[in-house]
Amino acid sequence: LHGDYDPDNIFAKILRGEIPSVKVWEDEHVLAFMDVFPQSEGHVLIIAKQSQARNLLEVEPEVLARLTAALQRTAKAVEQALQPEGLAIMQFNGDAGGQTVFHLHFHIIPRWSSRELKG
Ligand code: 5GP
Repeated sequence: LHGDYDPDNIFAKILRGEIPSVKVWEDEHVLAFMDVFPQSEGHVLIIAKQSQARNLLEVEPEVLARLTAALQRTAKAVEQALQPEGLAIMQFNGDAGGQTVFHLHFHIIPRWSSRELKG
């Protein structure tokens, strides 16, 4: 859980526009975009733009407050657009915690009881 932020992680590259992403919503501080390997229809990721926090333990409280406010707004938009039966909000910290991209992010995963999860 401790270490240096890698400025060449995939989400840093997305923020710099070096690799493409399908953006859902953004402002000066936050970007929400589609997960390229979605676990369900409408799987969205949300990240802070300026922070170099790799995980929840490192993030500045002000950045986290903005990020979670945007998380709620985006979750509501996903709910309106897709009308899922449920929404899983997920967040992983460290290799062993299931994290694969080391720029703090939250997952918004719409769920339907009748559909299998992918991935
Ligand atoms: P983690 O396990 O770190 O919480 O999740 C990282 C997420 O990033 C995974 O769900 C994975 O599908 C997604 N991901 C990996 N590479 C890319 C990419 O190049 N573009 C996008 N949009 N998502 C990615």
